[in-house]
Amino acid sequence: MSLISPMRQTEPPAQPVRLLLINPRFPESFWSFRWALQELLPAKRALNPPLGLATVAALTPSHWQVTILDENIEALPLEPEADIVGIGGMAVQHRRQCELLAHYRSLGYRTVAGGSYASLSPNSYVNLADTIIVGESERTWPQFCSDYETEQVQAVYREEDRINLAESPTPRFDLLQLERYTTASIQFSRGCPFQCEFCDIPLLFGRRPRTKSLDQVGRELEALRAVSVNNVFFVDDNLIGHQPRARALLGYLAEFQRRHNYPFALGTEASVNLAADPELLGLFRNAGFRWVFLGIETPDTDSLAEAGKKQNLKGDLLEAVQNFYRHGIDVFSGFIVGFDHDTVASFSRLYRFIVHSGIQVAMLGLLTAVPRTALYRRLESEGRLRRDIPPGDNTGGKTNVIPLGMSYAEMTTGYARLYRRLCSNRAIAARIRNKLRHFGKTVPLGHRNRSEALTLAGRLMLRGILSGGLGRTSAFLWSLAGFRPTLWPVAMRDWAHALAIRAYAQRHLGATEAEEHERLRHTVQQFIRRLHRHLSQQSLELRTEPAGRRMCLRIIVQGDLAAIEAQVTARLLRRLLKHAPAVTVAVQLREASAHGRACINGLLEPLRHYADRITVEANRSLLSWLDSSVFRITAVTEQ
Ligand code: SF4
Repeated sequence: MSLISPMRQTEPPAQPVRLLLINPRFPESFWSFRWALQELLPAKRALNPPLGLATVAALTPSHWQVTILDENIEALPLEPEADIVGIGGMAVQHRRQCELLAHYRSLGYRTVAGGSYASLSPNSYVNLADTIIVGESERTWPQFCSDYETEQVQAVYREEDRINLAESPTPRFDLLQLERYTTASIQFSRGCPFQCEFCDIPLLFGRRPRTKSLDQVGRELEALRAVSVNNVFFVDDNLIGHQPRARALLGYLAEFQRRHNYPFALGTEASVNLAADPELLGLFRNAGFRWVFLGIETPDTDSLAEAGKKQNLKGDLLEAVQNFYRHGIDVFSGFIVGFDHDTVASFSRLYRFIVHSGIQVAMLGLLTAVPRTALYRRLESEGRLRRDIPPGDNTGGKTNVIPLGMSYAEMTTGYARLYRRLCSNRAIAARIRNKLRHFGKTVPLGHRNRSEALTLAGRLMLRGILSGGLGRTSAFLWSLAGFRPTLWPVAMRDWAHALAIRAYAQRHLGATEAEEHERLRHTVQQFIRRLHRHLSQQSLELRTEPAGRRMCLRIIVQGDLAAIEAQVTARLLRRLLKHAPAVTVAVQLREASAHGRACINGLLEPLRHYADRITVEANRSLLSWLDSSVFRITAVTEQ
């Protein structure tokens, strides 16, 4: 039964309602590309802005005052000037979303939970949010706003139908700090006609794709062009879900790009059957699509059949990828291990396929069961779900699925090894060669800042290639050798992507063995001895704690630190974090004077580079000056 009542006409209240919309921090994942952002694009803080929140903002009454904060690019205020705090999130953000909901609710704010995970698992927000928005929000959100003004807010707003995308307004791009992201997002369609067993998209958005009109897309593109956005990601889960409309869109985009001298480099996601249609591929090229993400998943036909991925069984997958290259379009792809037909032999097969295909942005994931999907239901009935592992990030080396063809340990160890093999200099260079061999003329791009491109290339050479020593430098030269210079930018982009993926894999999929754990403990003990040579034992209390496969160094700051103590600690910690990727740090802060706080900043600031491995635990009184967009901050109860 729908909890939604018909719209009421209401007079705007005298004071505008203050709505704060928050995008919670993502834990570092494959998609963070943190190394590339930090080393190559320091002015950027994240890849994509929160398009869903910008759409919700556009659905909000114009007399309300709306602010969007993205914790991935900025710190969140602990006590914001707001009447309502709405927090969105995907499964991977669920933990942080819950922390934020609990925090703001405990301070008396009216809290609203939304986003894709609230739609999949609304029960996990009960007692955390005053209101939960389930399903698409184009009709339910205006209803919530209207009910808020008449004080009749309900606990759950559930969209039972599929909305007509013509009802979806132009997102409030003006509320986003687009200059801090590498790529702006835009959406043309929702829904996918296929039915892969593990996928939640048909469940969330249906199997009959719905689309916006070309005029709607045009308005959104004009809004992005007005603020000089260069890169645009069509976030559609399958842009060719409705082929006739996709063709119309591509024609429209080609005309738009030509008319404005190709302002946008475009990217999107599509199903593999696109590769079998050369005419459609040509339309993608003419529209300015520089890359397409494909869900290849696996080259194993039994596993594809098991997953219901019929569209991947119709042709040769290697040939499909090369068809994209021939049109000058790069391919990113998702791969999955852990299907019932997978065994320990699957890892080598996958390695060979990925290297031959030349796919550099190869998102390797462990098969993960998302609530309510067909896979989740099947595995639940077979007793093959691990309840201790949340179904968030499938690239973090853990999954809630108990495999059939190998043990859990064989699967996770094989997965980490496969990642490491793909990150070797030789495997990176070999993939580039296998790609460039087939790559056609690159997609046209309009005016680009030449000096910016040169700066980027210089940074990549200095911080990525030469810093990797002779082995990486010669692999880099080999990756370019014999190919025409117009293709070198494709190779440079691949190196940037590959080094970011490598940095992620080193930090998150490193140590797995017991000896490694012992080695880590030894490294941390050495650090502690060295630090104690410089500091009195009263300033800092240091402990080691095992943290799963990692080792956590706990630093308890006792009162005020001196500036020199902060500097020495930061210097040694940087060295430790650099050389021991499986070490994490928890900094525990107690009360501190203004001077002591400045010194703590002096300790934390040089560690920003390693922020994803640092947790800061602080008394509530200290929280307001800590930057939660950089470090993971948690509140500890005052003693
Ligand atoms: S083709 Fe992609 S979006 Fe469609 S159901 Fe399969 S995995 Fe999901």
